[in-house]
Amino acid sequence: MSRRVNNFSAGPSTLPQQVLEEVQAEFVEYQGSGMSLIEMSHRGNHFDEVHREAIVMTRKIFSVPDSFKVLFLQGGATFQFSMVPMNLLRAGERAGYVNSGSWATGAMTDARFYGDIYTAWEGKDCGYTRMPQDDELEIQSGTRYLHITSNETIGGVQFTHWPDVDVPLVCDMSSDYMSRAIPWEKFDLVYGGLQKNLGPSGMALVFVRESILENCNTDIGRYMRYAVHAEKNSMFNTPPVFPIYMLGKILKWMNEKGGLDVIERETQEKANLLYSVIDSSDGYYSCPVESMCRSTMNVVFRLPNDNLEAEFLKQSDASDLLNLKGHRSVGGCRASIYNAMPRTGVTALAEFMVAFRENNPG
Ligand SMILES: *Cc1c(COP(=O)(O)O)cnc(C)c1O
Repeated sequence: MSRRVNNFSAGPSTLPQQVLEEVQAEFVEYQGSGMSLIEMSHRGNHFDEVHREAIVMTRKIFSVPDSFKVLFLQGGATFQFSMVPMNLLRAGERAGYVNSGSWATGAMTDARFYGDIYTAWEGKDCGYTRMPQDDELEIQSGTRYLHITSNETIGGVQFTHWPDVDVPLVCDMSSDYMSRAIPWEKFDLVYGGLQKNLGPSGMALVFVRESILENCNTDIGRYMRYAVHAEKNSMFNTPPVFPIYMLGKILKWMNEKGGLDVIERETQEKANLLYSVIDSSDGYYSCPVESMCRSTMNVVFRLPNDNLEAEFLKQSDASDLLNLKGHRSVGGCRASIYNAMPRTGVTALAEFMVAFRENNPG
């Protein structure tokens, strides 16, 4: 038996053990073919079936309307920071960006190479501790889209209500995919890397409104064009075979659990467990994020001082509660509790936090 710890890593992150074992069992020989899936042609029957299944499951479990195309693209979410403006922004158009933290800043940095980008809301002024209200968003005329980051993985800040604006939204949902429903009517495009909630790294799951494809820029290389991938059903070149296969398996696992409704409830319950430990600790643990915008996926918290924080990380490590160190840019602690993190793992962390406080008074 392999040893499995409670892995709170922000990404790549913990995956369902059941899926890992299934993959292991069929890895060396895939379904009587005499070879593994990653050794065979991506145009053959076996992969064709895997690819088809992954798309069918994605459409089902995300409740994707027919008006959207599902794309599997390489380069993770980061490549989408460029691909979105390259395709969507035409001469004379601009795009607004909500700067909600590290990832939004990254998206803006890349977008500036391809068009007229402006900040529709600046979160830096409040230390990235909340998301904007609708009436704080400054949308300029000629805006093609407003880009938001639904969950800031590093800051632990999440949109708990979707902005209500007159322009289409584009959203980076890397770290809260499949944790809540997507109001499709608001979006022209939704993207995210797999490695937080949905699979291994290296691939982006992209949803693009079909009607915008014909208006996308065509003066860019073929791999950069959404329309090319849509026409070829994500088989324009050799696709990321293994991530697509894993995605299909993980979505099936989510479906067996009961789908989005069950996962959404579980997500809320897991997050509440940790936030209630923080809030009932008389300030021993503190979360810098405003309570309305606290992330259900990445719970960030601090201890009374650096020494206690270091001790906390040391002892949690020794208790098989791993990767609780906050991102190097912000410090502190962070527990990433994505879909594959079982409730038992979160309970173990909550109990550890209570006991640590008792044994190490501030
Ligand atoms: C992890 C992450 C990214 C970057 O994903 P890559 O696959 O490494 O490119 C982008 N945005 C958010 C919100 C993330 O959490």
